[in-house]
Amino acid sequence: MRASRFFISTLKEAPSDAEIVSHQLMMRAGMIKRLGSGIYTYMPMGLKVIRKVEAIVREEMNNAAAIELLMPLVQPAELWQETGRWDKMGAELMRVKDRHGREFAIQPTSEEVITDVVRSEIKSYKQLPLNFYHIQTKFRDERRPRFGLMRGREFTMKDAYSFDRDLAGMQQSYKVMFDAYTRIFTRFGLKFRAVAADNGAIGGTGSHEFHVIASTGEDALVYCPDSDYAANMEAAEALATGTRPAPGAALVKTSTPKAAKCEDVAKLLGTALSNTIKTLALTVEQQGEDGTAGKKQYFMLLLRGDHELNEIKVGKVPGLANHRFSTEAEILEVYGCIPGYLGPIGTKAPVTVVADRTVANMADFITGANEADFHYTGANWGRDVAEPAIVADLRNVVEGDPSPDGKGVLAIERGIEVGHVFQLGTAYSESMKATFLDENGKAAPLQMGCYGIGVTRILGAAIEQNFDEKGIIWPTSLAPFELVLCPMGYDRSELVKEETDKLYAAAQAAGIDVIVDDRGLRPGAMFADWELIGVPHRVVIGERGLKEGNLEYQGRRDTEATPVPLAEVVDFIK
Ligand code: ATP
Ligand code: MG
Ligand code: MG
Ligand code: MG
Repeated sequence: MRASRFFISTLKEAPSDAEIVSHQLMMRAGMIKRLGSGIYTYMPMGLKVIRKVEAIVREEMNNAAAIELLMPLVQPAELWQETGRWDKMGAELMRVKDRHGREFAIQPTSEEVITDVVRSEIKSYKQLPLNFYHIQTKFRDERRPRFGLMRGREFTMKDAYSFDRDLAGMQQSYKVMFDAYTRIFTRFGLKFRAVAADNGAIGGTGSHEFHVIASTGEDALVYCPDSDYAANMEAAEALATGTRPAPGAALVKTSTPKAAKCEDVAKLLGTALSNTIKTLALTVEQQGEDGTAGKKQYFMLLLRGDHELNEIKVGKVPGLANHRFSTEAEILEVYGCIPGYLGPIGTKAPVTVVADRTVANMADFITGANEADFHYTGANWGRDVAEPAIVADLRNVVEGDPSPDGKGVLAIERGIEVGHVFQLGTAYSESMKATFLDENGKAAPLQMGCYGIGVTRILGAAIEQNFDEKGIIWPTSLAPFELVLCPMGYDRSELVKEETDKLYAAAQAAGIDVIVDDRGLRPGAMFADWELIGVPHRVVIGERGLKEGNLEYQGRRDTEATPVPLAEVVDFIK
């Protein structure tokens, strides 16, 4: 590729609605362009990365004997009514009508359609097992689309569906997919973790999520460094429930990404109220102005009155991190705070009343609040908290708890859900009457599994894990280009042009995805572009070096360039 014939459009500043680093960098690197809320054009530079993700996914799915097909985007409502999901999916399901008034769903996923395909195609056990997949546009009318491709409304997913004759077969298909996912995420070059997940509304018998590890991830992952135990927070909590005294209060830990905070606090408040939990403790990690995580402070939210809450008190409570409260009285006992006077132990901090509010409007207030509103607490702590970030998880499970498998203590890290595998069982095949005939000619429902990968979300997740102050650092397998050639004076020096063209041809012949920057930019601007875009390998071709038989190589993570003999450059990169 020649840069002059490609489309490169970089920005110095990210648009103000880009809240997290991956969104900012993707906008600045010209990878995506916003069309509407949660809807983006994949620009040429971004599409190149998406195609690389897809190629790896496709190769490993095919290796795992999954078969590609392509199901429609627009799906008749009748199919969704058969499984009851037309109603159950609620507002997230995008519905449209045709000119005759017939209703359709724009697919958020494709269990119904694939089950419909299979019920008419599969007659006998001899045709099993089967696994169909496609890589297709999805639409989910997310309540709060955000973070660019990370939580879009329109996005690309790879979804696969396995069909087996019995439970053992389905579990085998599940394992094959689990292993394929492990290969896929390994090939992406990302640090990831598979965790047990709750099946939730989808039903079935088992489920795992694959998470890219990133401190900015929306999900908390609970794992044991000394064993194989790993679960997402919901699954860990479900396990812990019952093994603990029912909490009259819940410990809430928080971490940094500021964008999610208000919504999450509101969600938590809702959960707390529905569980008649009256006390919430928040750990707030201060974020320094340079974006670094700072000092931790502990605050407490007291919800009082029997669902007729009329005020919320917020104050500092040190040393709360590992304590679970059961009653308001216990707080008084432990911390010597009296309701209405929450503050560091032993001090007479001023009361910090947010406002007089009812439960009903508190959640609205928090959802709609900006930081300043939420932290309206008077002189006491507004002063030293430059950018308080609250992302709250309601936790019964905290760092340092013993593991459930008796092999150590739990650690917690954050992740971005990029893949999800489910053992579905017969939920869909029974409601849609998808059966096969066994050896005895008896009809039985098909055992199903389903397996998703958020293709476009991978881009955001990869960047959240790999960036620096200059821009994106793509793992080679996902980079839009693996190598950029930066000639110094391509249009001025015959020697430079000739050697650049030769090297370009040699790199292409060696199967390297290479681009020549022949735009005639000054070196500073040229280098800044490619550092922002995140190309892993850069070779500078200049007259002076050439006279000594050298080119200058710099890896994206290197702090300085290395001279490499002209003849060895391609091997050096390979
Ligand atoms: P989330 O918990 O983030 O809302 P989900 O559990 O609803 O995701 P699944 O139904 O498990 O998503 O879909 C499979 C995969 O599709 C997810 O693991 C994720 O990678 C991706 N995905 C889901 N929703 C979105 C979205 N709004 N934008 C981009 N990718 C998404
Ligand atoms: Mg979702
Ligand atoms: Mg999820
Ligand atoms: Mg999921």
